[in-house]
Amino acid sequence: MLTPVTDPDGAPFWQYAAQGELRVQACADCGELRFPPRPCCPHCRSFDTEWHLTDGRGRVWSYAVPHPPLLPDYAAQAPYNVVVVELEEAPRIRLVGNLVSEAGAALNSLDPHRVRIGARVHAVFSDGLVQWMLS
Ligand SMILES: [Zn+2]
Repeated sequence: MLTPVTDPDGAPFWQYAAQGELRVQACADCGELRFPPRPCCPHCRSFDTEWHLTDGRGRVWSYAVPHPPLLPDYAAQAPYNVVVVELEEAPRIRLVGNLVSEAGAALNSLDPHRVRIGARVHAVFSDGLVQWMLS
């Protein structure tokens, strides 16, 4: 399993995920939500940032089913899905992850044939990582 590589801008995202919260940056001046984390608001150029608690609900915007050749640890789990989820409350925010059968389940725990663009999903958390489940 890959572990997050954090930087000063993105570290809070992972800290909140470890608490079971899906938060994204919000501009403290204009309220614009943004992801991935970065120091400056692309809307008003403010450097004042808050972390907005989302409800963790989204839709599958796109997905892929990787097949070998893959790195050995991933080849052993293929086929599995990689989804791009757009948040319901901020559709311009899209997060990459995996759709699983339950929190903490393996990458290949959900039959890739069950993944559909537009499917409603919600975030689940395991070992500080964000995963997605069908709603
Ligand atoms: Zn702003």
